Amino acid sequence: MKRSPPPVTASTVNWTRSQPPLLRFLHTCYANFVTEAAGAVADYIPELGKADPAHFGISLATLDGHVYEVGDTRVPFTIQSMSKPFVFALALDTLGAERVESVIGVEPSGDPFNSIRLNADNHPFNAMVNAGAIACSGLLHVDKGDGAFDYIRHALGRFAGRELDVDEAVYASESATGDRNRAIGYLLRTNSVITENVPAVLDVYFRQCAILVTARDTAVMAATLANRGINPLTGEQVVTPYAIARTLSVMTSSGMYDFAGEWIYRVGIPAKSGVGGGILAALPARLGLGSYSPKLDKHGNSVRGIKVCETLSAHYDLHMLNRSDDARHSIIADYNIGKNPSRRVRRPQEQEILAKHFQEVRVIELVGTLSLSNVDYVSRRLAGSPRPEFVIFDLRRVTATTRAGARLVAEAFQELAELASP
Ligand code: GLU
Repeated sequence: MKRSPPPVTASTVNWTRSQPPLLRFLHTCYANFVTEAAGAVADYIPELGKADPAHFGISLATLDGHVYEVGDTRVPFTIQSMSKPFVFALALDTLGAERVESVIGVEPSGDPFNSIRLNADNHPFNAMVNAGAIACSGLLHVDKGDGAFDYIRHALGRFAGRELDVDEAVYASESATGDRNRAIGYLLRTNSVITENVPAVLDVYFRQCAILVTARDTAVMAATLANRGINPLTGEQVVTPYAIARTLSVMTSSGMYDFAGEWIYRVGIPAKSGVGGGILAALPARLGLGSYSPKLDKHGNSVRGIKVCETLSAHYDLHMLNRSDDARHSIIADYNIGKNPSRRVRRPQEQEILAKHFQEVRVIELVGTLSLSNVDYVSRRLAGSPRPEFVIFDLRRVTATTRAGARLVAEAFQELAELASP
């Protein structure tokens, strides 16, 4: 007979030793999936085949700078294709979006990552497949010359919040065997996407793929993507919000190899995986997740990593398109000072102003984030009743403003000022 667990009451919970529920959840994921043995370690880069298939680490970084870690989160592995979103973001900021977007597309290819196929313009389909990533490295090489790789390594370190090293053995192994990527490089040059020395560009690409990270690093890197480019640990703005939004867009449509459609349909979190066994997932304005487990499925995605992401998304309902918000909750008070006299002791000058205008002052107290819908709702509330002489917006409980919210506030003030002027 199955025995039910003892009831948990306030007295049986040791609060001082309790774990945050998110950490407990990650431990449960670890315990549930550590026994998962399916998949195979990538060995087409011979050195990758030496990875220990038992390694399993899960890390989640919050946007207020906390990092949860379970399992082998400090085991270094090579970043491989997970470098692609960061190098794309870097290229957008370094070379300008126009330059990058003129030679690299943003359509999903539906092909495997290493496909030797360009789009109808003879450009890479997107920056998440090898052709697009090699093109990005090529563009940065034009700009930075021999310094291109160090420029990339340094930038990836700013995403991770620490200096990152290279696995020389994996680099040498891919460099010795990466003829398919060389073929892509020459294809790009015949189509003028790469304009110079193909071996030098490939060298940058192979080195960038061999950068060493941990599951913890990739969680922080993902959290930086989720945080509009600000590393939540260091506070540094690593790349612009423009580059972040475009990078997350291509991760959404093309980040998970030829499993990308299925992934965004089921999990709904922009993500990128690498053949080294890492997966990073960035849920905008919420969290960054990094997992490491080297056994891959037929698409090249970590088997355990996929399961962690699927379970996390389903359990906490994190699909990015399954969201709602009620703009009406942003107003916590809306009153006329004349009808609600304050008990605050005021200076004589203030009392004088209030005595003169108390009938004409409306106070609106707002809370939370000033977003497009919240400010729009407030502006309709204002327009819906006779306009008072003075409107005070009490923003002390406002914690954030989106760009759309700020723009609407500015436009509302402008309109009020125009009405007030004779
Ligand atoms: N360096 C690997 C390659 O180009 C990266 C592939 C991947 O992680 O998808 O083959």
